[in-house]
Amino acid sequence: MSYARTSEDFRQRDGHGVRHQLRINERTAHEHGCRVVAVYTDNGCSASKEGASRPGFDRLVEDLARGRTADGQAVEGVVCVADDRLYRRAEDLTRFFAALTSRQGRIYVDPQGVRDPYSQEGLLQAVRSLETAVTETRVRSRRLMNWHWARAVEGVPHSGPGPFGWQEDRITLHAVEATLVEKAIVDRVGGKAVRAIAQEWCGLGVTGTRGGRPNPATVTQIITAPRVCGYRANRGELLLVPETGEPVLGQWESIVTPDQWQAVCATFSPGSLYMHRGSGAPRLHGKRAAPRYLASGILRCGARRHDGTVCHGPLCGQKVKSRRSPYFYTCRDCGRCSISGPLTDEALERLLFPEAPAHALLPDATRLRWMSGEIDLAEKREIIKSVLVCCVVRPGGKGNRPWDPSRVQPVWRCDRVEPTGARG
Ligand SMILES: [Zn+2]
Repeated sequence: MSYARTSEDFRQRDGHGVRHQLRINERTAHEHGCRVVAVYTDNGCSASKEGASRPGFDRLVEDLARGRTADGQAVEGVVCVADDRLYRRAEDLTRFFAALTSRQGRIYVDPQGVRDPYSQEGLLQAVRSLETAVTETRVRSRRLMNWHWARAVEGVPHSGPGPFGWQEDRITLHAVEATLVEKAIVDRVGGKAVRAIAQEWCGLGVTGTRGGRPNPATVTQIITAPRVCGYRANRGELLLVPETGEPVLGQWESIVTPDQWQAVCATFSPGSLYMHRGSGAPRLHGKRAAPRYLASGILRCGARRHDGTVCHGPLCGQKVKSRRSPYFYTCRDCGRCSISGPLTDEALERLLFPEAPAHALLPDATRLRWMSGEIDLAEKREIIKSVLVCCVVRPGGKGNRPWDPSRVQPVWRCDRVEPTGARG
């Protein structure tokens, strides 16, 4: 049985981390003459928080205790990339070990080798892993709290990408953006409608990190944020120097004076201010957003328009609230073609790296680097574009149909020989 887990702070919960762990498990099992009969995953689940649910882990423990998988296969052991994927709390270690050793002859395998869970050494090793995990969890949360507080009172900017108006270092002003913010504040105090300012910014090509366009709410957030005059806010309150009661001054360059900030805030109802709404508004910046999904724009719409021609519009990744898939690729032009994100990414990987090595399109070194997870999204997209013109996606039928990978039809670059057997 193969188990994989990524934590909730894992950057993108798109299943990549889990898939890589499963691949490593597959290899580890193979190296020790074992065969994976069942796979259990928890994507974006904490193992250190009390009460956090991990359905994959629960099923694993149940199947271990029962002695067979849901489809009736006998269970002889567990493979995982590291102990802390399985447990970071004593309760979970106890449950896991009790279930694992509930029958004779079972093993625990990780990349370090095979362990005998019945031996004292096997148990001790597990306890040592637990101790490390528990200490790590405790230190991590305390360190984070202290770090945020210390940075805040020192006037160090929040971490993360630079806010609109500043460079990536969050200290130095971004000449163009800062000018826009200053003009917007002056205009607003002079009586201009926020909607008009948002339209002006749209006209200048300002876009959000997620491709969104400035709207009155985002503009309001930006111009009423205390950072514009150098003040530091934390959880909706101005941070004050304990000794003097004066606002903490940030180390970053300010755009306007505190008086101007007060004046612009006074033009809004309190409920719409940055201080009231917090920093949750989408970020804006002057440059185009980098794609966040593997196949955005590489997929093309295969839906027919009313006049019978094929749409061919770009399909772009979109996060959705769906039990079936965390994100979909959807046609931006006609909206009539949509396909599951993770399954499409997998189908694309299969096209690039077909099972039969004789048909390999890309060097094996590329395949290994890709599979190991060391290639970032931007490079992956470059690799795809080096062999594929695009993939045409056939619109799916209505309702809950089984996944059909042939909906993704590759259009190979013409200097490549079309591999037989790579399709379907
Ligand atoms: Zn379309």
